[in-house]
Amino acid sequence: MSLTFDLQATDGAARAGTIQTAHGAIQTPVFMPVGTAGTVKAMTADAVRSTGASIVLGNTYHLMLRPGAERVARLGGLHKFMDWPGPILTDSGGFQVMSLSKLRKMDKDGVTFQSHLDGASHRLTPARSIEIQHLLDATITMALDECTPFPATHDQARISTTLSMDWARRSKDAFIPRPGYGLFGIVQGSIYPDLREQSAAALTEIGFEGYAIGGLAVGEGQAEMFKVLDFTVPHLPAGRPRYLMGVGTPDDLIGAVSRGVDMFDCVMPTRAGRTARAYTSKGVFNLRNARFADDAAPIDPACDCPACSRHTAAYLHHLFKAEEMLGPMLLTWHNIAYYQSLMRGLRDAVLAGRLDAHAAELRAGWASTEEPA
Ligand SMILES: [Zn+2]
Repeated sequence: MSLTFDLQATDGAARAGTIQTAHGAIQTPVFMPVGTAGTVKAMTADAVRSTGASIVLGNTYHLMLRPGAERVARLGGLHKFMDWPGPILTDSGGFQVMSLSKLRKMDKDGVTFQSHLDGASHRLTPARSIEIQHLLDATITMALDECTPFPATHDQARISTTLSMDWARRSKDAFIPRPGYGLFGIVQGSIYPDLREQSAAALTEIGFEGYAIGGLAVGEGQAEMFKVLDFTVPHLPAGRPRYLMGVGTPDDLIGAVSRGVDMFDCVMPTRAGRTARAYTSKGVFNLRNARFADDAAPIDPACDCPACSRHTAAYLHHLFKAEEMLGPMLLTWHNIAYYQSLMRGLRDAVLAGRLDAHAAELRAGWASTEEPA
């Protein structure tokens, strides 16, 4: 039996559920910290666990190039390699081939590209992407797709989505089902309701353990993204988890959860943690700002992570000014802890049937002191 999904409660379109996998349970809505190259940057696996994170993401593109999927398999799989026995979701590699590699050439069967590391030539097809994710021992495997560029005309989006649906079928054919593992398909279709609906229908017919919404958070803006969710989510099967890829800010997460999305990943909290940006219950701060130099309070009094329970904002400010590596470590820890507590709060609010009221409280907290991003 593949992974299962049970709903505990709904509040409007929002859902609280549980995904049972071979590597443990995931309570949704859930935010997945991004562990690009077998590590959530600047964090130990214990630190990631301490935030309550139940699942992390790994990037197929990075891991296939270095250290190589076959090597990870020989070393016992990605769970063992990175000391993360819990669930791992891997992306298909397609998005990063398009954004990072050199001299890439797409055809109807896949994409040939040069590594951004050493220029070596590689080829990614739906079957090879699924094989790599199998070698990594991903709990959740993503189908290979083409992330339709934004903006795209209706014609461009239609051609790209048709290709992605063909690759979704080939991905399904290549996937080897195992108990507690699953394969997710990815809805494309850019900003066009008819294409999103056709894509969702095509994927549902093939049949996946979960459904991702791709091609968003690529420059369309929050209002457009929410519009796409409004006309896409109702076409996804209610009994399967829904995953919005690459999203987003805390406010994006509230909006998407309230529209019925269950799973998220984004580099934002980890990247921000390395660049002195703190996500807190009182908004977003840049800790390099001189106003923190004498601030003896924690960066977020509502947070119990080590950065907040044992250090002052002034100390974090000092670490970043002095370019000490502990600064990015502590602030990444805090940002991931904040995102996890945000998602737990959203889940509790759905269970209690008060998501709208809870969202209003969160937004009021951010508005109290938020700086311009
Ligand atoms: Zn904290």
